[in-house]
Amino acid sequence: MKNKVLVVEDSRAFRNYLEQLLSQAGYEVLSAENIAQAKQILAHQPDLLCAVLDYCLPDGQDGEIIELVLKAQHKVIVLTAMFQDELRESMLAKGVVDYLLKNSMASVSYLLPLIKRLTNNHQHKCLVVDDSSTVRNHVVQLLEHQYIRTTQATNGAEALAILQQDPEITFVITDHDMPEKDGISMIQEIRQSWDKNSLAVLGVSGSDDHSLTAQFLKAGANDFLYKPFNQEEFYCRVHQVLDMKEANNELYRMANQDSLTGLWNRRFLFNQACGGCDKRNIAMLDIDHFKKVNDTYGHDGGDAALVTLANILKIYFPEDVVARFGGEEFCIQACGTFTDFSTRLEKMRQRVESTPIHYNDTQINITVSIGVASAQNTLDSQIKLADDRLYLAKEHGRNMLICR
Ligand code: GH3
Ligand code: MG
Ligand code: MG
Repeated sequence: MKNKVLVVEDSRAFRNYLEQLLSQAGYEVLSAENIAQAKQILAHQPDLLCAVLDYCLPDGQDGEIIELVLKAQHKVIVLTAMFQDELRESMLAKGVVDYLLKNSMASVSYLLPLIKRLTNNHQHKCLVVDDSSTVRNHVVQLLEHQYIRTTQATNGAEALAILQQDPEITFVITDHDMPEKDGISMIQEIRQSWDKNSLAVLGVSGSDDHSLTAQFLKAGANDFLYKPFNQEEFYCRVHQVLDMKEANNELYRMANQDSLTGLWNRRFLFNQACGGCDKRNIAMLDIDHFKKVNDTYGHDGGDAALVTLANILKIYFPEDVVARFGGEEFCIQACGTFTDFSTRLEKMRQRVESTPIHYNDTQINITVSIGVASAQNTLDSQIKLADDRLYLAKEHGRNMLICR
């Protein structure tokens, strides 16, 4: 992942401020106070996330640095003390990502979110849907300028087919008037399979019909934009859609993941979309005498044991649902044959028994007891059965697997 930001700024105070701001946020900052120094850095650092450039420098007072850095194929954010329409237009036309006014703190405070946006954009892939190749190419160019990967479709029907095949697509930008299937009908179909979070949609149309905004939004678009749009408005809308999507994903993760181990939690297990089938197997697993681990090595030692166990579970059940059920109890849900599942569980049990957990200067050894159940009428009753077998395993001496 690209992490380096070039800062070219002649005011020492402002340069220091930017350096501090960016390095605190985890970026590696390369700074220069003039064009000559910037050239030297560019000669050795071809892999930049972006460059933050002062428009006016002692050895180039008319934006020369911008041309230089753009020529080296880097993403450019311009800092300027002057705000003139033609200047702004000419900079945007040259292909800079954005420009910020230096004289206002509010404007500079937009820099960090913008750079974070560029970093996160690598995770996104946009499906651009429009029957006009000119519009598609323009939108694709704008997106790729900000590290968003793209793919294209010429109408709604083609777009739906592409969406079925490409799970990497995170959002869609679509026109309305298109042959075969228009944008609004396409969005209605999209919403039968994807909600606004899993697949965001930004509608775009050049129609004079001003009821289109409402139609797009009611069909399930996250936002809407009239053509022709200017570059800045386009980026603001795209950023807003992606910010919202990422924030919601983060909330979902926080609500469904266990923070210590990174495993799913109980809420996730019970809220899964899959209602279950006759192939669903459940294992309930509990660490033996875990209280003793805490008593001997302290709570942090106990936590280290929980994390190591979680990692072993992820290795043995990478394709399955592994959840921390509570305290030192875990639940694994795997679909397939009961024999295969039990065999994997037994191998995992042996691995836990033979893996010493390194904590400070000592080693902690743990064992687990496991109860397994094949499909029952409900998930609740299946978990209850697996839990009963887990307690049988405890009664029979622990460190064992009971399947019937
Ligand atoms: P058994 O073999 O019968 O399961 O005995 P046990 O000691 O493992 O079971 P018990 O239920 O008596 O104790 C579980 C302990 O797990 C008590 C609790 O303090 C500890 N525990 C629960 N959650 C955490 C946690 O997040 N971190 C740590 N370190 N300990 C935890
Ligand atoms: Mg226990
Ligand atoms: Mg317990």
